[in-house]
Amino acid sequence: MELIASTATPPTRGCKAKGCGTNDDGLAGLPASVREQVQNHPCFSEKAHHHFARMHVAVAPACNIQCHYCNRKYDCSNESRPGVVSEVLTPDQAIRKVKAVAAAIPQMTVLGIAGPGDPLANPERTFETFRRLSEETPDIKLCVSTNGLRLPEFADEIARYNIQHVTITINCLDPEIGARIYPWIFWNHRRIRGVKAAKILIRNQLKGLEMLVERGVLVKVNSVMIPGVNDHHLAEVSRAVKERGAFLHNVMPLIAEAEHGTFYGVTGQRAPSNAELHALQESCSDSMSMMRHCRQCRADAVGMLGEDRGQEFTLDKIASQEIDYPTAMARRQRVQRAILDSLAEATPPLAAKPPPEALIAVASKGGQVVDEHFGHARHFSIYRVSAGRRAFVERRAVALYCSGASDCPEEEERLEGHLGALADCNGVLCSRIGIGPWQQLERAGIEPSSSYALEPIDQALDRFYQDLLEQGKLTTSHPQQATA
Ligand code: SF4
Repeated sequence: MELIASTATPPTRGCKAKGCGTNDDGLAGLPASVREQVQNHPCFSEKAHHHFARMHVAVAPACNIQCHYCNRKYDCSNESRPGVVSEVLTPDQAIRKVKAVAAAIPQMTVLGIAGPGDPLANPERTFETFRRLSEETPDIKLCVSTNGLRLPEFADEIARYNIQHVTITINCLDPEIGARIYPWIFWNHRRIRGVKAAKILIRNQLKGLEMLVERGVLVKVNSVMIPGVNDHHLAEVSRAVKERGAFLHNVMPLIAEAEHGTFYGVTGQRAPSNAELHALQESCSDSMSMMRHCRQCRADAVGMLGEDRGQEFTLDKIASQEIDYPTAMARRQRVQRAILDSLAEATPPLAAKPPPEALIAVASKGGQVVDEHFGHARHFSIYRVSAGRRAFVERRAVALYCSGASDCPEEEERLEGHLGALADCNGVLCSRIGIGPWQQLERAGIEPSSSYALEPIDQALDRFYQDLLEQGKLTTSHPQQATA
């Protein structure tokens, strides 16, 4: 396999799902500046999606690749729900519609261009719309979703119009897999097929991702989960895009109903079950912040996630409206400030949150390096660790867990003493550990690691703490600490 490398009262409309997706803590490992930037973005912050709205304007009809899950006669069935977009808009019509929606729905914070084709395959219409919005509605965040084929070409243009958020759909890193998803691309005035096409697409997606990150643009990656095609490969995609600076990964289920007329739909490719999707999202979440509340919106969606108020703002309905945008903008600021204030009352300000603390146990023979097998340890040294700080707390003795004798008690009993001694710890460092104890520790909420074997303890503690933080495992106190 070759890998290239309102009001203060929250609105109740929209998403009705209880506990849908991750909570805002899914972003807890990110820098405060990023969390602040997405605090009113309904797609990027799980918490924000209950309070803030988004809209898409369908100004981009053409596409430069073919995906087997898409039939543009029916709009893109994975980037946006099936159903033709009601109207393809000119940039002028799009500006009019954005102002009408912004005035009527003051909690609308985000304007995206997501199709129905690819925005960067329609650069004149897309950037004309963004240019005018950046001048005429400066209080609205601008986003674009793209397949990434022309991203390197337009990364500077994106940064110029202050487009703060970009979503790239990356379904694979392996061109062999890509050839099973993309039958062709249109590149340099030619139609290119198969593995060669997939190679070009993947190369440009990854290069475009890096270029955007260099320019300070926040990048989310969408992937469509296609059982038997790329499902086994998406955890690797997650790791690779994180390495290149993407901050959020959104794994979405394939939509493949035959009536949509897509290749996958008519050839019987199945969609993943909910359980399969959740299991994959879980496995990716070890290395990446995952979005789990995406509603796979239409390319002309308007309103809170999970609702579509587009029919209230059709061209004929807004044709005669004259919007006084400065007045609308002042009201929007008041409403959005009130929402943010009400959220801040519920939680301490993001920037003021102190870094979480971790209690970490270390198995060491001489107290210098991590060099003791978990099963051979007679004691653990306990450290309290937070960002750049560590303090020795105490030494806790345990009975020898494994004597190698045939009269060893049952596994559950053998570990009981260890689990009791480490119950309030977030993690344990050792040089080696068996799979049974590993699983029992994990079940008890204690993260074991032998990845730092033979490292000096201070260095291992810092690196392990950082890992736990990035994986979102230090967002709250360990349950035992909370009740202590
Ligand atoms: S498709 Fe997903 S990411 Fe795009 S607006 Fe809808 S919820 Fe947000």
